[in-house]
Amino acid sequence: MIRLTDIVKRFGDLEVLRRVNVSVREGSVTALIGPSGSGKSTLLRCVNLLEFPEAGELVLGEETVRFTGRPPERETIRRVRRQTGMVFQNFQLFPHRTALGNVMESLVVVLKWPEAQARARALELLEKVGLAHKADAFPAQLSGGQQQRVAIARALASSPRVLLCDEPTSALDPELALEVVEVLAQLAREGSTMMIATHDLRLAASVAHEAVLLEAGEVVESAPARELFTNPKHERTRRFISTLG
Ligand code: ADP
Ligand code: MG
Repeated sequence: MIRLTDIVKRFGDLEVLRRVNVSVREGSVTALIGPSGSGKSTLLRCVNLLEFPEAGELVLGEETVRFTGRPPERETIRRVRRQTGMVFQNFQLFPHRTALGNVMESLVVVLKWPEAQARARALELLEKVGLAHKADAFPAQLSGGQQQRVAIARALASSPRVLLCDEPTSALDPELALEVVEVLAQLAREGSTMMIATHDLRLAASVAHEAVLLEAGEVVESAPARELFTNPKHERTRRFISTLG
């Protein structure tokens, strides 16, 4: 479903991803864990082609992109981006649009859906994240947890093949983080495919099927999440997990 093979990404002289291999099965959730600066965000951004790796290959559904050092074709980028939804640490909602407006935006603007159809779909998604009653609220009128749930609904609007979440609970107090974890856990139960970069052990342990530990741009260990968290094979994994809250 998603396969990243031998991904190399450099920023100038800095090699941020060093032949990274990660696969995510359809309907499964992979947690990317690792210290700050290990390359988690960059790897997610390679999946939706917000970054272009120098080498390696991305398979996303029927799409195969081989990286050669030149940017992929515009059409390829467009097709890949349409199959991904992204959720950011700091929500990144449009402040001047309501919750409903935020979720409708890409359907109306990018996919050119008729207004009424986009509205119905957006309401359905707000319902799914438990926020139908906040459809007309602006982001500033919502808690952080509610804003992130709107952001998740927005990312799901175009029915992406994969939901990419970059530290989705890191900006939230534990209590508000929990409501986001619960929404992501529900999506996981429904068979959504996700890659989640996170420091949140509760999130990783309760939502992910697989876990990948990155360190300095390299995969240290990749295993079923339960196994990686309870019985890591590598000393570096054990040490890293002991630092997580
Ligand atoms: P993580 O998400 O695991 O904290 P990142 O993927 O954000 O790690 O960053 C990995 C490394 O790449 C870090 O050393 C970071 O400073 C560097 N980096 C990330 N984005 C850029 C960029 N646009 N330009 C230069 N260096 C970057
Ligand atoms: Mg990051």
